[in-house]
Amino acid sequence: NDRAHEQLERLSAIGQISAGIAHEIRNPLTSVKGFLQLLQKEHDSRYWEIINSELEQAISTVQNLLAVSKPEKNDENWSSVNLCEILENTLSLFDHEMYRVKVEKRFYNTASMVLGKRNQLKRAIFNLLKNAFEAIEGEGTITVEHFRSDNKVCFRIRDTGKGIPKDKLSMLGTPFFSTKTDTGTGLGLSQVYSTFYEHKATINVESLEHQGTEFTIQIPMIDRFLEDKMQMELTIDNTMS
Ligand code: ADP
Ligand code: MG
Repeated sequence: NDRAHEQLERLSAIGQISAGIAHEIRNPLTSVKGFLQLLQKEHDSRYWEIINSELEQAISTVQNLLAVSKPEKNDENWSSVNLCEILENTLSLFDHEMYRVKVEKRFYNTASMVLGKRNQLKRAIFNLLKNAFEAIEGEGTITVEHFRSDNKVCFRIRDTGKGIPKDKLSMLGTPFFSTKTDTGTGLGLSQVYSTFYEHKATINVESLEHQGTEFTIQIPMIDRFLEDKMQMELTIDNTMS
């Protein structure tokens, strides 16, 4: 757990500076995106797709930066979250990669509720999957498993990609660590580590160069009592509004 702590310290140092910048950039980007959508209705152009995907990329980078730099300021509510559902939905965002990467889903048990921050978890799973797809040059396989172990909801994302050299393993999760020269920001895994740390989850990485990588995440299961309590609060909320 020393390592996790060390990671957090590094994160917060970087957070001070980047959170401010990220906010400043996100707002204009989001507004540009909105106006572009309005323009798009009036003018037909094949450039829209490019502009849109570039904007998406920039917004996603900024979102990661914000998630990493100010996790404590992340005011998303805790709720009961179905992990399998998130895995399914997030996988479908990669449909355009399926022509080259075979995805095997092994969902052993559908009971996959955890107490969590839905959007943070979605983003973390997206970041893990994105790395898996990027690690595979040409064709390969990604296996997504979900299973229960004791009182943990677990999932595993395994790819047959290029793997991570042993001496780089300890760098994972460090903000801005990236081996992708043009395309990488090195923020994806930082978001992953800080999100799962907040969920009291454990992350285990196994990787062999030229063979592939496997991330296993174990999240403490939602407590029955808490679940009932939350359900009650939700009901009360609903009746009040
Ligand atoms: P980025 O993807 O922008 O480079 P990340 O924080 O997502 O940043 O990942 C950091 C680095 O960790 C990557 O550049 C890559 O070297 C390594 N990495 C992460 N996931 C994988 C994976 N599934 N296979 C191989 N390398 C990986
Ligand atoms: Mg990444």
